[in-house]
Amino acid sequence: MVDRSPVRYRLVNSKFTVVTYSREKAEYANVNWDELGFALTKIDYMYVMNFTQGDEKFSHGTLTRFGNIELCPSSGILNYGQGLFEGLKAYRKADERILLFRPEENALRMKMGADRMCMTSPTVEQFVDSVRKTVLANKRWVPPHGRGSLYIRPLLIGTGPNLGVKPAFEYTFLVYASPVGSYNKGELNLLVEDKFHRATPGGTGGIKAVTNYSPVYKPLTQAKAKGFSDVLFLDALSGSHIEEGSACNIFILKGNVISTPTADGTILPGITRKSIMELASGFGYQVEERALPIDEVFDAEEVFCTGTAMVVKPVASITYQGKTIEYKQGEETVAGRLYATLTGIQTGVIEDKLGWTMTID
Ligand SMILES: *Cc1c(COP(=O)(O)O)cnc(C)c1O
Repeated sequence: MVDRSPVRYRLVNSKFTVVTYSREKAEYANVNWDELGFALTKIDYMYVMNFTQGDEKFSHGTLTRFGNIELCPSSGILNYGQGLFEGLKAYRKADERILLFRPEENALRMKMGADRMCMTSPTVEQFVDSVRKTVLANKRWVPPHGRGSLYIRPLLIGTGPNLGVKPAFEYTFLVYASPVGSYNKGELNLLVEDKFHRATPGGTGGIKAVTNYSPVYKPLTQAKAKGFSDVLFLDALSGSHIEEGSACNIFILKGNVISTPTADGTILPGITRKSIMELASGFGYQVEERALPIDEVFDAEEVFCTGTAMVVKPVASITYQGKTIEYKQGEETVAGRLYATLTGIQTGVIEDKLGWTMTID
């Protein structure tokens, strides 16, 4: 237990002096923080909460040791992919207190996804409380200020026996986390994908379904083998408008206008996307959500991608049908300025006037 008593005695010039500390010095896990990439480091605890048909709501959430979970072989998640995931980060401020960034937005997005997937979901309060408890139980894994973040991964999955094609009777909400460093250290060189599609109208591309990523492994692997870092998907109907990367939203800048594809079902409504749109408007840019023809990419001054893991990252180049265009990069770009502002707010360096952060300890 951490002793929260504010009074301490310190030996100063051979005399014991009473000093007042408002907080304990933070304790850290034995991690080489500067070598963290975006990979799993096993932390101490995870949070698990269940729902069985007949229950009124999710209940009996508990923290348990991080480890493997048991599932019925005929569970909805294993057989039919009835599941959702979320992703958000906890950051340490310079004074070592811990901040969450817009966790209620993730909770709301999970509720939306649960509705589309016929799943029961935790309430916004339950979601935020579970995330808070998970972070506090794993406090020593939250990297020191400026050296990374604790990436939090909530899951909502259909559990229990179920062979028929119908929604599961039981659901598990699980929250685990991992300290992470930079998501993508290299340049972002995108290859426009004109054969495979990520999302279709009426499909599940607009929610964080667990089935969102595995179908893009094929084009992603092929693009990486050719030296690209990610693919840029086109809309499935016309094949002429850009949609997003495999796990990030996209923006283009021209003059005073910043544009991003409308999130109307085939675009994942990113919370970073939403935050960047608000920050860019505040900077005086005209922010537009609209259909973005691929041709506009070749006319843009800057292109950048957004997502919780990468935050905001300028795109170095885009290649489409053998033609490559390169863009401005670095801190002097609009993307660089947006990155500095957003990470400043997330880490408590810049005053949060928008009420986006939540101090949890
Ligand atoms: C999660 C995700 C994003 C980014 O959303 P954030 O809330 O900003 O992290 C973008 N595209 C896809 C496909 C995603 O799954």
